[in-house]
Amino acid sequence: MALTAVDIFKHLPKTNCRDCGVPTCLAFAMKVAQKQASLEDCPHVTEEAKAALAGESAPPIRLVTVGTGDKKLDLGQETVLFRHENTFLRPCGLAVLLDAGLDDAAVGEKLAYFKTLRFERVGLQFGINLVAVRSTGDADRLAAVAKRAADEVGLPLILMGGSASELSAAVAAVKDTRPLLYAATADNLAEMVALAKENGCPLVVRAADPAALCELTPKAVEGGVQDLLLTTEAASAGAILQHQTAIRRGALTKKERRLGYPTLVVIEEEDPLQAATNASLAIAKYAGIVVVKNDSRPVLLALVTARLNIYTDPQKPIQIEAKLYEVGEPAEQSPVLVTTNFSLTYFTVESDVSASKVPTWIVVVDTEGTSVLTAWASEKFSAETIAAAVKACGVEDKVSHRKLMLPGGVAVLRGKVEDETGWQVEIGPRESSGIPSVLRSWTPN
Ligand code: SF4
Repeated sequence: MALTAVDIFKHLPKTNCRDCGVPTCLAFAMKVAQKQASLEDCPHVTEEAKAALAGESAPPIRLVTVGTGDKKLDLGQETVLFRHENTFLRPCGLAVLLDAGLDDAAVGEKLAYFKTLRFERVGLQFGINLVAVRSTGDADRLAAVAKRAADEVGLPLILMGGSASELSAAVAAVKDTRPLLYAATADNLAEMVALAKENGCPLVVRAADPAALCELTPKAVEGGVQDLLLTTEAASAGAILQHQTAIRRGALTKKERRLGYPTLVVIEEEDPLQAATNASLAIAKYAGIVVVKNDSRPVLLALVTARLNIYTDPQKPIQIEAKLYEVGEPAEQSPVLVTTNFSLTYFTVESDVSASKVPTWIVVVDTEGTSVLTAWASEKFSAETIAAAVKACGVEDKVSHRKLMLPGGVAVLRGKVEDETGWQVEIGPRESSGIPSVLRSWTPN
């Protein structure tokens, strides 16, 4: 966090000796805050003061990386409690639980299934981010299953066990993948910290609640592990909400360094509705990683969607490329629709066109990712921009007719678009859901 002049001034000698070339310590602090001078320019500032200022300027929530390579997951460094204050920066990682006690065939089936967990939303691909391999007490079995998961799925791992001795063989087997170790508790803290430190792995610290976590995290840091994630024993939706909020609020508003780490929530619920509800709540309320036992596609699709909604920057709408799109296999006698490049608008239109089963051309106008009425109000969806898009996309060479269909909300543009394009303009329905019936009765003449 950026330090203010007052923050810096508190740590200066306050002698106004001018050895830094500035008349007073306060003036020097102001120059440092504005990055016009360095703390090193004061020869009298103590090492303790430098260390304190370095600590105060660190991000309130530490950046922690799990995994390596292009699949690694960066967590933390969030700066706000609410999305309307700023964007949430680092999307929550979704992890699926794998029981190391399954036999080889069942493990193989699970791993093959995990590789299929990809979902398309608004034209983008999303999926799970980690596999959490949970020990059933057999260290060698955990190591073998973890190695298979690393080799066959290729996602970052969470190694879950009750003690360092239970995890150590698995850590050795997949050490190069920088797995996340789960979990250090009051009973095993020293040995888990030693294992994490020795292998350079991030570590989950678990306690009953945020207050109890505050007792453990300083000990983990003293033991030499800074890359921590926090988890509590919250199981109900209410407890998850309460603990997650207390940790984020403590780190950001109370500047409680002992809580300044990303969090992890394990959802043990088997019931799909309850699992999706609790996991969505954890995603909405600050979890860095959510581990789910119910790995069914409907549950994961719900979670992927919840995450997309929470972590989309509201100031940067998701856009698609402005060009000519084909739905089905349109021909020269097929209808031509016009819409904007706001993803939600386009995919809603595209879905309703698909439902009509009428092959159709869609001309997408670059409106900087805004919806039809917003773009019209800001003159990004105007007769001029529509005419330019029609000309640039090449639809004139694809169809033998000259009929365009505009969204019903911008019927007012009809005359000007006809003037600018020379095409006959029809007005489509106000709601996209009306598209199928209109298309089914559409003719080129
Ligand atoms: S050299 Fe240090 S102590 Fe002296 S005026 Fe500058 S900031 Fe203050």
